[in-house]
Amino acid sequence: MTFSALISRTVPHNGKYSSRNGSPIVRMIQHHHAATNLAGLTRLTSVDAPASATYIVLTTGEILGQVPEEFRPWTSSSFEADGGAITIEVQNVSGQVNGNDDDPQSWKISDAALNSCIKLLADVARRYGWGAIAEGNYQGHRQWHQTACPGGYIWSRMSQIRSTAQALLSKGTVAVQATPPVAGKSVWQLADEVLAGLHGSGDVRKKSLGTNYDAVQAEVNRRSGVGTVASAPKSIAQLADETINGVYGSGEERKAKLGDKYAAVQAEINKRLGGGGVAPTGVNISQLADAVLRGAYGNGADRQKRLGANFQAVQNEINRRSKLAPKAPSIAQLADAVLRGEYGNGADRQKRLGANYQAVQNEINRRAK
Ligand SMILES: [Zn+2]
Repeated sequence: MTFSALISRTVPHNGKYSSRNGSPIVRMIQHHHAATNLAGLTRLTSVDAPASATYIVLTTGEILGQVPEEFRPWTSSSFEADGGAITIEVQNVSGQVNGNDDDPQSWKISDAALNSCIKLLADVARRYGWGAIAEGNYQGHRQWHQTACPGGYIWSRMSQIRSTAQALLSKGTVAVQATPPVAGKSVWQLADEVLAGLHGSGDVRKKSLGTNYDAVQAEVNRRSGVGTVASAPKSIAQLADETINGVYGSGEERKAKLGDKYAAVQAEINKRLGGGGVAPTGVNISQLADAVLRGAYGNGADRQKRLGANFQAVQNEINRRSKLAPKAPSIAQLADAVLRGEYGNGADRQKRLGANYQAVQNEINRRAK
């Protein structure tokens, strides 16, 4: 579970990642998340929208970790792109101007967000030993997929971003965040932070955690032994991804491991591999649906026109997906969110959790023991 030390916290990936299938990390791909409010973040972290990123940069400059670097995020509509990439989504402060996505003021981001992208690029380049930051290892989404992303503002600044990051890298002044305080935090929270890379490793981690070290380390080990704790039930789409990546083997082994989900997962795989999910023209309906969900095909009549003969098949795929994913968060997920501070405190928390308040509070108390 690797994240840059520049992140302030992690946000849920809800299983929206895949194996890199052995691809080394050789590039960073820049995106924008096409929303001036937090809607873009909500979509990326939702259970059902099939999109995620390694990092998400907010207008405040805050850097969030989503998919650990070991895994392929679902960001660029292309395995070739994301298989070997760290991806960044950045919140916009404004949208298209002058009717042109490529206008240098279209899809603007804040200076703080721009700086965070630069720092993150320098940090990743240093850790993966890229040497120089060049056109080959810092790219825009549009270089891999038909999209205006990352928008004119960032796109017109790509070489400036490269050279500023290169200067940081050469000076060795990539800022590294100090380890956060541990007082008052539960073992659970500290384990989250360790897994997010916030307490370093080896002696640095020991020193940072102090007397909590043994308990936190035991929790970290427990989690890596039993898989993700308190995760949502996996959707059929997630199980299909994992099956395609070899997690459940094949034949009888796969049948046994998937149990009563086997038929549904197999049907999903068959659809993706051509048994219904691939249009006669060879267009991958699943990929088109990904692109539509990222906003690359607009809405309504515009979407219909641009998708042409594939419109209905893509729309069916989107409808199918929206039925697959569980909608309501589990108590464990709500507890995670509370511990991340997303539900405030006291009466505010009580009000926002409503009928789930006591169950969530019990789960938090249970974890703290
Ligand atoms: Zn993009």
